[in-house]
Amino acid sequence: MTNRSSNRDAFETRAIHAGQDPDPLTGAVVTPIYTASTFVQDGIGENRGFMYSRSANPTRLVLEACLADLEGAATAIACPTGLSAASTILELLESGAHVIAHHDVYGGIYRLLELVRSRSAGLDVTFVNFSDPDAVKAAIRPDTAMLWFETPSNPLLEVVDIAFVVEQARKVGALTVCDNTFCSPYCQRPLEMGVDIVMHSATKFLNGHSDLLAGVAAVSPNTDPAVAEKLRFLQNSTGAVMDPIACSTLLRSLKTLPLRMERHAGNAMAIAEFLDQNKERLGITRLTYPGLASHPQHELAKRQMTSFGAMITMQLTGGQARANKVAQSLRLFAYAVSLGGVESLVQHPASMTHAILPPERREMLGVTVNLLRLSVGIEHVDDLIADLETGLSGVGAE
Ligand SMILES: *Cc1c(COP(=O)(O)O)cnc(C)c1O
Repeated sequence: MTNRSSNRDAFETRAIHAGQDPDPLTGAVVTPIYTASTFVQDGIGENRGFMYSRSANPTRLVLEACLADLEGAATAIACPTGLSAASTILELLESGAHVIAHHDVYGGIYRLLELVRSRSAGLDVTFVNFSDPDAVKAAIRPDTAMLWFETPSNPLLEVVDIAFVVEQARKVGALTVCDNTFCSPYCQRPLEMGVDIVMHSATKFLNGHSDLLAGVAAVSPNTDPAVAEKLRFLQNSTGAVMDPIACSTLLRSLKTLPLRMERHAGNAMAIAEFLDQNKERLGITRLTYPGLASHPQHELAKRQMTSFGAMITMQLTGGQARANKVAQSLRLFAYAVSLGGVESLVQHPASMTHAILPPERREMLGVTVNLLRLSVGIEHVDDLIADLETGLSGVGAE
């Protein structure tokens, strides 16, 4: 039931039904929320599959089955946050292991690797640009244990050649981890391209309504089953479990994931084209969206993404002062971190999501002070375009 094949239901159908049957007790069409922490045992060594909710909870198991199905995974674990999922994945490694991570991974992942696990687990982390094949090749060592990347990356939307990274990792038997948060399994299916583990901040597109923190780790059916088993063991051992009410909220959100993603991506494409065609007039020096032919890796994005997603990055004339004014003057794009919700957001990576990076690192990555990142929501595209037109043309596009 977890492998995609021609006779399987489509993604839209599985988003609604995967892992879910009407409740055998009452016929409820929606999965019940089991808040019980403990379950009555029928005798010594006898129970109905549940003992204590950290080890297994009926609501969480349904969500995990649905997530695994949508991602094409053998197993998925539902964690309280994206970082908790990331943290649990890193527990697969032995202390002192060599990890290669994409140079512009999400700020919180950078912090976890560089400021926490380097110290507490002795992880030896090399940061390289994964969209440069030679850099990846040069960084791999015979003892490399894990390659960790995001594609498209944040905030510059660099596209990583997933098949190439997988091929390099396999030469030394390293695990590959792809943070698929920016795409969701609707836009990109890394496990089908040979990646071992997909992680998500389900806080973003998977939940999509900015009212939940949640994380997911999903293991490929083609990866040694011992990895999935170990991840489940670690989820229980470290207590990285999503609570049942959050599980139910996320399960409901998944039902509209395909609808939302289709609208997100359609809006983003129309907005990117509008901004691109009016770059000079609107004072935009650089516009980045993987769906635009002008994106340096557009061909690669077309090959490996089923849809280009909803994130757009733009660099403006007038430096930080104008970037700030534009961000504040937008009416529908709320000035806030995070992404993937039904409402549109705008943020300033240099002072918000990427403030954790040392200034010279931000400079090196191109996270400049005139850069704004848009998370395009599912409002009517005409309203969003009008908002951007007013905001950008109203604030001195010199
Ligand atoms: C938000 C985010 C995370 C962290 O997830 P939380 O749910 O905030 O813990 C990790 N990776 C990416 C790409 C993100 O956007």
